[in-house]
Amino acid sequence: MIRFAHPLLPSLSDFDRRLRQIWSEGRLSNRGQQLEELESRLQQHLRCENISLFCNGTVALLLGLRAMGLQGEVITTPLTFPATVHALEWAGLTPVFCDVEADSLGLDPACVERAITEKTSAILAVHVFGLPCNVTALEAIARKHSLKLIFDAAHAFGLEVDGRPVADFGDLTMFSFHATKLFHTAEGGALIYKDDDLKEKLHLLHNFGIRNEEYLPVPGINGKLNEIQAALGLCVLDILDQERTRRALVAARYARNLAQINGVTLLQPGPNVHPSYQYMAVRIGPGAPLSRDEVFERMRGSGVIARRYMSPLCSSIDFYSHLPSAALENLLEASRSEKEILCLPFHGSLTDEEIDFVCEIIRG
Ligand SMILES: *Cc1c(COP(=O)(O)O)cnc(C)c1O
Repeated sequence: MIRFAHPLLPSLSDFDRRLRQIWSEGRLSNRGQQLEELESRLQQHLRCENISLFCNGTVALLLGLRAMGLQGEVITTPLTFPATVHALEWAGLTPVFCDVEADSLGLDPACVERAITEKTSAILAVHVFGLPCNVTALEAIARKHSLKLIFDAAHAFGLEVDGRPVADFGDLTMFSFHATKLFHTAEGGALIYKDDDLKEKLHLLHNFGIRNEEYLPVPGINGKLNEIQAALGLCVLDILDQERTRRALVAARYARNLAQINGVTLLQPGPNVHPSYQYMAVRIGPGAPLSRDEVFERMRGSGVIARRYMSPLCSSIDFYSHLPSAALENLLEASRSEKEILCLPFHGSLTDEEIDFVCEIIRG
């Protein structure tokens, strides 16, 4: 059996040391020492000014949308995990699907510009599989039309473009700290944002809207990250570079093995990008020895777990398929990619033999 992913598990003795700190403090949630420390460590690690932590990435995104006071339509991609689009729905916004670019798999700037109406308030793009969106073009469009630009960077922790941390682009960026993500707190999430005024709004929204005992200015929700999750995150942060180094070797072996196969392209970010090492996505297109689905079935038969992420497209989910923008002819590139992309097993504990075995199946 070759596992698809493996959560980063710090040593139990490191975790135990932090649990002992929590026990002696006697504080399990509501901004204790662990959360304060994690926040400042992440600020350094991600080189950002404003960061807020949440119980998961979906709630983080929802509260970010609410805190920005958005209304009307938000242009987004169908090639994402449903949480991206659900967050819009929960925030009372109308998703408008737009096609993606063939290489970055991010929102196609030309399609975005065509989809803008007087109701559009924001663009919500996704750095899917850790491939950076066309950030410069999207920023230019957002500026030209006075729209907010938001990124779902759940796959992009540590991603850098032209030497800049990925959260430098746009107004607000969400990270997920779910156990399947490279950096994780078992469950958790974060927002990084430019506008200083969002800090207090987000704090209120994630803590029942309570400013003080007498004053509750907004109907907030419970979106807090607790001390045990923060402690786990601090331990994971300590072993992150080691895992990144291992994953870089795994990525290089995949790249070498799959370089010369007809119709097969590894979806790796370009040379100006420091990768996030979150997923190993491969496009298995026309001319390949086996189709994407044949590869998937053969892998399953041999005990290799691969994933057909992001299929079905969010625009095909029953709840959203009635939207005019969900029409297939509006989303040709996304529909093609949905049928061709396969995410291969990817984690630091894969052996050379396992990587070679996976690649042999693709070779047919
Ligand atoms: C994991 C993920 C999310 C949701 O994050 P949670 O922390 O699990 O709520 C959102 N968007 C994308 C693209 C994801 O992969």
